[in-house]
Amino acid sequence: MSSFEDLDLSKQLGYAIEDLGFTQPTPIQQEAFPVIRSGKDVVGIAQTGTGKTLGYMLPILQDLKFSKQVNPRVMVLVPTRELVVQVVDEIHKFAKYLNIRVLGIYGGVNMNPQKEMLLQGCDIIVATPGRLYDLALARAVQLKSVKKLVIDEVDVMLDLGFRFQLKNIFELLPEKRQNIMFSATMTEEVDALMDDYFVSPQRIAIALSGT
Ligand code: ADP
Ligand code: MG
Repeated sequence: MSSFEDLDLSKQLGYAIEDLGFTQPTPIQQEAFPVIRSGKDVVGIAQTGTGKTLGYMLPILQDLKFSKQVNPRVMVLVPTRELVVQVVDEIHKFAKYLNIRVLGIYGGVNMNPQKEMLLQGCDIIVATPGRLYDLALARAVQLKSVKKLVIDEVDVMLDLGFRFQLKNIFELLPEKRQNIMFSATMTEEVDALMDDYFVSPQRIAIALSGT
């Protein structure tokens, strides 16, 4: 049986996991951890509820060093405002003993408070693509510093017609970056997006339990 100890987590992450009462990593967490840390592009497919958020955040947090830099080094794109709030919340729980600044960005609210928060600087941005792009065009955020891009629920994102917005954002990112996608299903559109932007991605697919 696998345990979090096998991942050799930093003390700070280990304590946070302990506080949450988690005893062992889920299969997607276990498999994604070394691959994401290797720096390769990754596509992870596992059904809803299998712990994909921690699956990508754990390796990222393990390697994210303290910095006073204003511009974000990690960017997580999700399809909805609700998901932004949920993912920011989860990151706060895992990163509670780390000195890391996380910012959630979504549309449907006034842009000015978001601009002000961006001015303060952050390490990780969790955002919906439309609002993030608007803020980037307004020069409220500079995305050239992003080293790791995560697209969560990419199947939903493409179903909602976000492909063009994703393309716009990709153009603002540095070419040298790690691309990470997580999805509950592997669709043709996900495959096509990957073909266009990913460099020899490693696939991690967790079979449905009981099959
Ligand atoms: P997914 O994105 O695959 O749908 P989530 O990342 O939202 O799944 O996680 C689903 C739930 O499982 C969350 O409440 C999360 O806190 C919990 N969880 C994640 N990893 C573990 C773990 N290793 N042990 C116990 N619970 C976990
Ligand atoms: Mg999820």
